[in-house]
Amino acid sequence: MIAAVPVYAVLSQPTLVLNRHWTPIRICTVKKALGLLAKGVAHVIVPDTYKCYDFQSWADLRAAADEPHIRTVSLRIKVPEMILLRSCDHAGTPRVVFSRRNLFRRDKNTCQYCGRRLPSEALSIDHVVPRALGGKSTWTNCVVACHSCNVGKGNKLLPDAGMKLLKPPREPRWRPSVLVTLPVRRRESWDHFISEAYWNVELEE
Ligand SMILES: [Zn+2]
Repeated sequence: MIAAVPVYAVLSQPTLVLNRHWTPIRICTVKKALGLLAKGVAHVIVPDTYKCYDFQSWADLRAAADEPHIRTVSLRIKVPEMILLRSCDHAGTPRVVFSRRNLFRRDKNTCQYCGRRLPSEALSIDHVVPRALGGKSTWTNCVVACHSCNVGKGNKLLPDAGMKLLKPPREPRWRPSVLVTLPVRRRESWDHFISEAYWNVELEE
């Protein structure tokens, strides 16, 4: 006998979202995935065959009574395990959030002036163009610096302080490998996509 799964449980199950380059970018709920599908923004991908379905053709497949599905008055819709976004909109290109933690990670806890690698407590964030001179808190204007370099530079521009950056600060590329550590139950069907994306990205540097 198959235990009946309540519809809200099915709707809150995870769906893997691929951007239009077939790169996994995030995980959403089945409910959200069906919404994107109904709007025509995404297609369902069947992991085994890589076949794409729009909402209507997906609904026409009709789920068997014993597989997870969502019931409407007239339809029995299969649960989409993976969807493919059709355009670059809708956050198709995710960005790394600018945060203290991510900045320390980007600079590998290394002072970007003297090159010393130190524990986080011994480092701070330096604005390359000081805030007092209109410098913004952005990926390209902030670096990790040790306390002595930070104090030495003060509110001066680099040439005035006689200092140089090890390398120009840049916005880090978003890595699909973050998906691997997400606290959700992974579907087996995702493995091919996630591990490929993971290796592709890790080997690029
Ligand atoms: Zn330093």
